[in-house]
Amino acid sequence: MNPVELIIKKRNGEKLGDAEIAYLVNSYTAGEIPDYQMAAFMMAYYFQDMILGHSYPDELAALTMTMAKSGATMDFSDEFDLIYDKHSTGGVGDKLSFICAPITAACGCPSFLLSGRGLGHTGGTLDKMESVPGMRVALSEKEIRDGLKKVGLVISGQTGEIAPADKKMYALRDVTGTVPSIGLISASILSKKLAVGPACLVLDVKCGSGAFMETYEDAHRLAQAMCGILRELKRPACALITDMDQPLGRAVGNSLEIAECVRILQNRCEKNEADDVIEISLALAARAILLGKKAGDIAQAQSLAENALKDGRAWEKFRAFFENQGGDVHALDSIEKSAAGEKFAVKSADSGFIHSIDSYSVGISANLLGAGRFKKEDTVDHQAGIEILKKKGDEVRKGDTLAVLHFNDPSKLQEARDKVFRAFVVKQEKPAKRERILGILE
Ligand code: URA
Repeated sequence: MNPVELIIKKRNGEKLGDAEIAYLVNSYTAGEIPDYQMAAFMMAYYFQDMILGHSYPDELAALTMTMAKSGATMDFSDEFDLIYDKHSTGGVGDKLSFICAPITAACGCPSFLLSGRGLGHTGGTLDKMESVPGMRVALSEKEIRDGLKKVGLVISGQTGEIAPADKKMYALRDVTGTVPSIGLISASILSKKLAVGPACLVLDVKCGSGAFMETYEDAHRLAQAMCGILRELKRPACALITDMDQPLGRAVGNSLEIAECVRILQNRCEKNEADDVIEISLALAARAILLGKKAGDIAQAQSLAENALKDGRAWEKFRAFFENQGGDVHALDSIEKSAAGEKFAVKSADSGFIHSIDSYSVGISANLLGAGRFKKEDTVDHQAGIEILKKKGDEVRKGDTLAVLHFNDPSKLQEARDKVFRAFVVKQEKPAKRERILGILE
């Protein structure tokens, strides 16, 4: 086998076999195939996949598993039939994992979410967890196993290097214009998830102004490709396509989002306060419960999920999860009081209805206030963030507060407040209602 043959095969739209994919990916990861040949292969892949529509789920499944097995892996199959994971393609104010996973765990589905830090304008699950003092976010395989047995819910970042092939290939895609291949994106996302087994995956593919995929069509293609891979690999999975045309819930920023989760899990939210977070979290949890055969049909799974939220079992799981990973549960109980030193209210200049809220700008503004990083070495201010007081469709009068900025460091306040002000579009007519769950793929 040689790389030139495989590049030509892909350039001509042919399918590569499992051994060919393994040779290409493993030799590239080991440094035996140079960047320029892998770049040529990925560009050929991009054109065949995105322009000519020649993609093959079995080839993509082989690519995904080769990448998944290229580094550290974890296998819990000796003790668990299935380990549940939820993946989101990233959003603003996206705290769904903290609602969905405790519900799923409370319904008897051991859940291990391999999660990450904030990326670009989107917040990171691990950063949000660290707003509770003491919380550990990098657990060993033994600690993950113990946590799954004791609590049934663990969220951790990666310790050993998971899927190094993906890391190397992603860095190359980033500088060769080959990031937007749906096939390569799907393999990249799933390789990290499938390094931990045996996995049952519920995918939340977001679309809209704050999402990786802005249009429904692109989000649908991504969901379809990922479900195709998982079907080939015989992993129980499904994908929801969900709205990211405005931030999720009311809080954007680490401790503000954890505080919002506490209110949701303790059933203390006002009507319309966090209906979007609750609806999508319940839908994702219900799908996981159904995939795990803990319910006979989706209606029963939905009612099991609703009951676990309503009767407080999901809250107990959430609290036990923090306690198990070293989090100070007294600080968690009082997190709603842990505010940043300063606040600034962004007010409406017009009367009318909120037509849209540009999630991307809200996410970037939260980072400007300190909630996220612009460089890898930046430190995060866990208290900084944005409270969204008005959402799409709400009526406003001139002078009403649209959002409250929370900050300790005022150096970027002006830029953040201008961005947030411009993120809200107010018009005279009420906007058309958009569903929160736009599609379901199995
Ligand atoms: N996220 C990933 O993990 N990989 C991609 O290729 C794109 C987004």
